[in-house]
Amino acid sequence: MTRQFFVGGNFKMNPATQEQKRALVKVLNEATIDPAVEVVVAPPAIYLLALKEIVRKEIKVSAQNCYLKSSGAFTGEISPAQLVDAGVPYVILGHSERRTLFHETSAFVAQKTRAALDTGLSIILCVGETLEEREAGKTAQVVEDQLKPVVEALKPEDWSKIVVAYEPVWAIGTGKVATSAQAQEAHANIRAFLSSAVSPAVAESTRVIYGGSVTAANCKELGVYQASYIRLPAVPVIGHTFGVCAQLDVDGFLVGGASLKPEFVDIINAKK
Ligand code: PGA
Repeated sequence: MTRQFFVGGNFKMNPATQEQKRALVKVLNEATIDPAVEVVVAPPAIYLLALKEIVRKEIKVSAQNCYLKSSGAFTGEISPAQLVDAGVPYVILGHSERRTLFHETSAFVAQKTRAALDTGLSIILCVGETLEEREAGKTAQVVEDQLKPVVEALKPEDWSKIVVAYEPVWAIGTGKVATSAQAQEAHANIRAFLSSAVSPAVAESTRVIYGGSVTAANCKELGVYQASYIRLPAVPVIGHTFGVCAQLDVDGFLVGGASLKPEFVDIINAKK
């Protein structure tokens, strides 16, 4: 099955002014963008509505976070219901900055994922290991532990609304990008885990995108890697540890710093 390539721009707490936001949108609106790619941009909440109005219609918007209740006394939070009411189709959940700086646990991320799904949102669900965890050989285990509560909270059919973003913490905002082989290995492990924990069909259809210092200069390598290997015939499921098939598993990117620059367009067009 073909998974639609997905490129997300996570603006984080940027840009600093409305003028810069308009300039960013102008670049996106005037660019030639590969129509085969699903493009989603996640500005800060304060810019969501305005950006949605001015950005070209093929580009969807995403919130960077949401809470799990639909309304009430939760100062500073935004509810999934409010996002849906505002016409926002996506939300990023479980970003490593939220896990580390704001102490969000995997159980809490799973609860929020459930609430967002129940409201009708699609979710960019972030997982990834720290450098220490990678060096200790725990990458697959850490990612599985982050995914497990989500698997428990979801029904198999819910996965059609989930994009998993594998974002190694050591690569986020550091300029240190994973090699295409490292990304492929982690993505294949995620797919193998989904295959055994949910179903082979869900593992095959769920998009797993890479995030962490993606730039115009390095996205081609990941993209080309995919282009050269994606059409290999799938082999039967070998087992949990070895991946589900010989097909390449990087289905797009979640881009932070470079999504604020004109080069974001080249990343969107990485497969062209
Ligand atoms: P980065 O951020 O591209 O700046 O490394 C990626 C992310 O945090 O989603």
